[in-house]
Amino acid sequence: MTVLTKLRSLNASASVPAKRPRRISVLGATGSIGESTLDLIGRDPASFEVVALTGGRNVARLVELAVRHRAELAVIADEAHYAELREALAGTGIEVAAGRGALVEAAGRPADWVMAAIVGAAGLEPTLAAVRQGTVTALANKECLVSAGTIFMAEVARHKTTLLPVDSEHCAALQVMAGTPSEGIERVCLTASGGPFRSWSLAEMADVQPEQALKHPNWSMGPKVTLDSATLMNKGLELIEAHHLFSLSADQLDVLIHPQSIVHCLVSYRDGSVLAQLSCPDMRTPIAYSLAWPERMHVPNERLDLAKLGALTFAAPDEVRFPALRVAKAALAAGGSATTVLNAANEVAVEAFFARIIKFLEIASLVEATLDAASDLVSLKAASVEDVLAIDAAARARAKSLLGRFASARPAG
Ligand code: NAD
Ligand code: MG
Repeated sequence: MTVLTKLRSLNASASVPAKRPRRISVLGATGSIGESTLDLIGRDPASFEVVALTGGRNVARLVELAVRHRAELAVIADEAHYAELREALAGTGIEVAAGRGALVEAAGRPADWVMAAIVGAAGLEPTLAAVRQGTVTALANKECLVSAGTIFMAEVARHKTTLLPVDSEHCAALQVMAGTPSEGIERVCLTASGGPFRSWSLAEMADVQPEQALKHPNWSMGPKVTLDSATLMNKGLELIEAHHLFSLSADQLDVLIHPQSIVHCLVSYRDGSVLAQLSCPDMRTPIAYSLAWPERMHVPNERLDLAKLGALTFAAPDEVRFPALRVAKAALAAGGSATTVLNAANEVAVEAFFARIIKFLEIASLVEATLDAASDLVSLKAASVEDVLAIDAAARARAKSLLGRFASARPAG
């Protein structure tokens, strides 16, 4: 059962739950999506009770959020920060824990709703713990699906979990498709802003610095997804995400460059109709959709004024200047464990770019070189999450071993 079929049947029978506060957890609470989620929750505190909040390393922010939202549990992923967290929350009555096991436990704590907003494949096991608990899961962490889509969706089905995509394009797709039978759908087109280098030449992009790549024209997001948006790898990851969420084949999926980021997804039907979802670029809109589902909640963000905007523009993506999109599409077409390898190699490449070890254009080159060098891993068929994690680890090692090829940007000394 796809996300869509499941939601249609739930929507049909959805009754408004008794008005008790919804118990919610936020994985990745200190990040961009986590903060936006807690911003919405903080505006209506009577409707929510916060169960668990987790963060990677930022203890100070996790402490502030846990106290402000009266969380039951605060978990820091990096065990080196455990003592600091325990000390800061002593006497508050908030439980504290640290490490990967604690993250998984926090995610599996009984709750009505969980936001999965850890960045990268590090979010896979905690998110799966929420899915296996049957908690309504708002999924921001696209890497879960890129790395382990088949297994992840099988777990969603097995536990009859309601999965609500938070990625703006996928949330848009869900909203558009919810009222139409899937057989009528011909194509689903995800839009991309094109990022800060949309109109730059390859020569101009050769010397892009991390600070430049972190300036997204429309969206305010965490560093990895901002960089992924600048290379267009993000749109490649999102095609793979859509493939798993909506059971769409690669040739039913498309990308359009749309610099204004107002139309998030267009769905074409066999009668020639094209339906789209529009909103100003603010992640609180898709987050609110998943938070209030099956109802709608008020979001105090900018309202769309098309007369003021005047024009919306669209163009085909350029896979020569943005080869990451081509590489991701090829991984989706290759099947096997290609997308697991793609995701792992991209995480290594992103880190290496931020560390100024490789250059901007070398991100896609490193990912492609890893896929080429790892045909043994690509051909593996993962039967379990453990298999996926082993392939992910091997692919990271392979990508790191190839970094030397791209030593050009390595800092001197
Ligand atoms: P972010 O970097 O701002 O936040 C990531 C969160 O994960 C932080 O709380 C961080 O502390 C935590 N974290 C990092 N490494 C961790 C680890 N190893 N173990 C446990 N926790 C760890 O990222 P973000 O922009 O909020 O994005 C989160 C996810 O949502 C990503 O998968 C991203 O692709 C997706 N997403 C984000 C946006 C957006 O607007 N920010 C839009 C669509 C999708
Ligand atoms: Mg997106």
